[in-house]
Amino acid sequence: MTDLSSTPAIPVTIHRGDYAPPEWQIPDIALDFALGVEQTKVSAALSVVRHAAAPAPLLLRGDGLTAAEVRVDGAVWNDWRMDGSDLIVDLGDRTAAAVEVDTVIKPASNTQLMGLYASNNMLCTQCEAEGFRRITFHPDRPDVLSRYKVRMTGDKATFPILLSNGNCVEQGEAGNDHWALWEDPWPKPSYLFALVAGDLVVNRDSFTTMSGREVELGIWVRKGDEARTGHAMKALKDSMAWDERVYGREYDLDLFNIVAVSDFNMGAMENKGLNVFNTRYILADPDTATDVDYDGVEGVVAHEYFHNWSGNRVTCRDWFQLSLKEGFTVFRDQNFSADMGSPPVKRIEDVRLLRAAQFPEDAGPLAHPIRPDSYQEISNFYTATIYNKGAEIIRMMATLLGPERFRKGTDLYFDRHDGEAATCEDFVRAMEEGGDIDLGQFRRWYEQAGTPRLSLTLAQDGDDWSLDIRQTVPPTPGQPDKAPMMMPLRLAAFAMDGSGATLPDTLVTLTGAAQRVPLGRFASRPALSVNRGFSAPVIVDFERAPGELAWLAAHDDDPFARYEALQQLMLDTLVAAASGDTGDAQAVIDAVAQTLAGAAADPAFVAEAVLLPSEAFIGDQMVTVDPDAIRRERLALQAAIGAALEREWRAVLAGAAPPATDLSSKAKGGRRLRGVALAYLAATGQDDIPGLAFGIFSGADGMTERQAALATLAHGDSDERAHALDIFYQRYRDNPLVLDKWFQVQAWSLRSDTVDAVKALAQHPDFTLANPNRVRSLYGAFSGNQAAFHQADGAGYRLIADLVIALDPKNPQTAAKMIPPLGRWKRFDEARGAMMRAELERILAQPGLSRDVTEQASKSLAG
Ligand code: ZN
Repeated sequence: MTDLSSTPAIPVTIHRGDYAPPEWQIPDIALDFALGVEQTKVSAALSVVRHAAAPAPLLLRGDGLTAAEVRVDGAVWNDWRMDGSDLIVDLGDRTAAAVEVDTVIKPASNTQLMGLYASNNMLCTQCEAEGFRRITFHPDRPDVLSRYKVRMTGDKATFPILLSNGNCVEQGEAGNDHWALWEDPWPKPSYLFALVAGDLVVNRDSFTTMSGREVELGIWVRKGDEARTGHAMKALKDSMAWDERVYGREYDLDLFNIVAVSDFNMGAMENKGLNVFNTRYILADPDTATDVDYDGVEGVVAHEYFHNWSGNRVTCRDWFQLSLKEGFTVFRDQNFSADMGSPPVKRIEDVRLLRAAQFPEDAGPLAHPIRPDSYQEISNFYTATIYNKGAEIIRMMATLLGPERFRKGTDLYFDRHDGEAATCEDFVRAMEEGGDIDLGQFRRWYEQAGTPRLSLTLAQDGDDWSLDIRQTVPPTPGQPDKAPMMMPLRLAAFAMDGSGATLPDTLVTLTGAAQRVPLGRFASRPALSVNRGFSAPVIVDFERAPGELAWLAAHDDDPFARYEALQQLMLDTLVAAASGDTGDAQAVIDAVAQTLAGAAADPAFVAEAVLLPSEAFIGDQMVTVDPDAIRRERLALQAAIGAALEREWRAVLAGAAPPATDLSSKAKGGRRLRGVALAYLAATGQDDIPGLAFGIFSGADGMTERQAALATLAHGDSDERAHALDIFYQRYRDNPLVLDKWFQVQAWSLRSDTVDAVKALAQHPDFTLANPNRVRSLYGAFSGNQAAFHQADGAGYRLIADLVIALDPKNPQTAAKMIPPLGRWKRFDEARGAMMRAELERILAQPGLSRDVTEQASKSLAG
């Protein structure tokens, strides 16, 4: 029997090379919403102007919409037809027209959370990338920019607050209803449209711009949450001042609103003048948010604010240019956060994230350049490559140009392309002209996927030393052969013999496949500090003795390089042990001890530096990942360090914790170091540890300490574990963001029964597939738990595949994000690989699968 419905839809591939400018522009749009949670009526009036020389039909995209009637210039119009879900209006040889279409949409049943949807009885929109077409028929492409007038009418009691982009220019009442008219003076693409209606309260503040304009700021949340908006407000004002100071960019409306919603697919969205945020990046207070959460709020508020220039004023021509706004904006928010806290610690965190999320992507079946050549579903391209590698590419240009010329380049970019839909090429050209530099070869970073590898060897000619660098870029899907990349490599060299000979910090521009760099005169082999500050996003292969790494970990004058040296030492030891060789645990213990001695001066740096590399990162260094051996050896080294430095770890914990309200770098670092100390002690398995952890858990004055203690307990098997989990649940069961943490710590657990625990938690009454944060807190945390996800019997793979199958009909975007871990099958042994592929095949065999999941699963399977 053939069931045609079970054949996955034949995917349509969109190619970058097929770009053609829009045939019609829409200078003005008027939208009228009759709001209802169950049903909302949308009347759209588009003033369209033909840009094509010859007559061309007007293509208006739709997704799940029906057109009852089309009017042109006020009269009913019959020359239209549906092409699949799109509306095609034949306007004859007209060059301009007023086109009106009415649609009816159902927010309450919009579980995809794209378009207009309901969340806790409030209505909100998400339009990037292609959600606007779920609200009304429209070209829905970022190179069609319009001025919007938005009128909305709704029940006063259900929707006391009515918000859209720009300024509210009129409002009024009619019986139980009220209405508001919003106008946004800045032309914008449809993906930046937003509307919010609901019962919200506001934290109000204001900001005076550098030219003296007063901007009203509002952060809108549900009643009861307003006390937790202070940190977001501070971050907003800091961001506004920072963008003026660092990039000369001022805010351009009299009003800036942010709304927090609990059901959101991503972190937040930069809609013009009306950012919509996942609550997790707005709400924070010491009792419920960790230091990591606080930093997340600050970084994401800044990120969305910075988009006002890098994304909104200068937007993207098409979605292949996504990294134009995202890579640049991540770079901007990274530097902002660095300036607000500790620059070296921020750099360490950013590089750790790049290695955890982007390097594996670049090495797997879903690898793509930061400017992709094709896609099936654009939602699948909001990736670590577009965002985080994209930011590294901007950073390299900033390094090559230096701060002054980089600023000249960005000024030129913003001024030249203000009001336009631009391309990555436009950005690079502005850098070239503003910076007076040839970036011809550098453009390969936009074209070639894959993480470049540098193999280094030292060469000696008498006392003259030099460094030989060979560069290779590995093959990736569709790109078998690569050319060498241009990159800035910062390096230094130090004599270890006490002679004081050094090569001070030097910036080398690599261009060739092989290059020799002179280092200078050294009586014996110098210690080489290379890729300082992670100046290029590459993997460096360089054989170094443990003694040399330990020396650098203690003496390098670049803190990032000190961190790297210690990490490399740990990594070498762990990879050797997990591969059945013996590692040098004593060298690691000595180096950790040495670094720990500096804890009082810089606890934040030390806490990062003494942390062992993650299981996943250890796996990334192995030919075949052995998740069980990695877990065993990592725990063993952790226990060895815990035992050898027991006195030091206990001393860290014996001191008082910094008060949770103190958010200085030093206080955050102090708390982080206490968490690390507790984890090292716990690894020793000593009897008093559960009691110690429970004491910290109960005595904590804030969530950072409380969660760290709970996570440590969750790895174990003590009575204290069960007790603490229960207390935590009872105390926070009504706070969704904190309840997420309760699911998360259990899914992260190093216990051997974690697969079963996760399975059971999915049946918990507080678990729901309707909320993306909850899904990520359980399943996202689980699939990042390497040994649990890769449990030898394949139960972890089944669990994730079952989730994808259950979630896809409700929320394909979030479902598709769960697939990449299954696509890493080539990295594991034959038995695991076969089970992973079988789950991908099972997913693909589901009838009616979304385009999102079809693309990710089929590409993952193809490898
Ligand atoms: Zn962004």
